[in-house]
Amino acid sequence: MKKRDFLKTGAILTMGTVVAPFVGCNTPAPKDNSDETPDEQPQANPKMYELPALGYGFDALEPHIDAQTMEIHYGKHHAGYTRKLNKALEGSDKVNMDLLDIFAGLNDSEEHTAIRNNGGGYYNHQLFWDIIGPNGGGQPSGDLAAAINQSFGSYDNFANAFKEAAGGVFGSGWAWLAKDDAGKLIVTHTPNQDNPIMANLVDDKGMPILGLDVWEHAYYLKYKNMRKDYINAFFNIINWENVAKRFAM
Ligand code: MN
Repeated sequence: MKKRDFLKTGAILTMGTVVAPFVGCNTPAPKDNSDETPDEQPQANPKMYELPALGYGFDALEPHIDAQTMEIHYGKHHAGYTRKLNKALEGSDKVNMDLLDIFAGLNDSEEHTAIRNNGGGYYNHQLFWDIIGPNGGGQPSGDLAAAINQSFGSYDNFANAFKEAAGGVFGSGWAWLAKDDAGKLIVTHTPNQDNPIMANLVDDKGMPILGLDVWEHAYYLKYKNMRKDYINAFFNIINWENVAKRFAM
């Protein structure tokens, strides 16, 4: 798959939670009048992002992640990133762009900071809730297992590399399993709310298929300073089926 198609495919799925204000209101779909409408015309219907549904209860990941952490993490932190992403996009030239295309074009300039932090926060948490769940754990199977073996030599090698990446994040950030442009799987980590899609901001680029939030807000209520225990517990709640779906895109 070409990189462009790759990004588009991911974007369509990401955009599943976008609210299009004119859809479902008995108004006809907007016709393609791109010949008549200059690009710089203000957007009348800005995309608004919504906090995605969690899909399981706050207590569903006990004892690995406690209910109170889930409630605050989802209801306050993720909701906050979502709200601030909408605010950051409002009136910007990126307002109706696909989020993954926005990520791919971000640089470290001041003007990109709010979208970088809050867009990353919105997207990364959406991915996180999707790739964990009750009845998780075990090991991947099928094509994903084969790719892990091919890229890392064995599942255990992958797991050790991932745990090392997560444990090695200094301060706040994420550990990732990502598929690079050549289709190879890589383990990497990013600071803050960056992710491997932000090609100009990371050394290891790719499409993340598994991510672990190692910000203290993700684990401190239960695990305190024992980040390593949280990282190990994460492996008991990975939803490998959903990781495999992301891998297959
Ligand atoms: Mn978080």
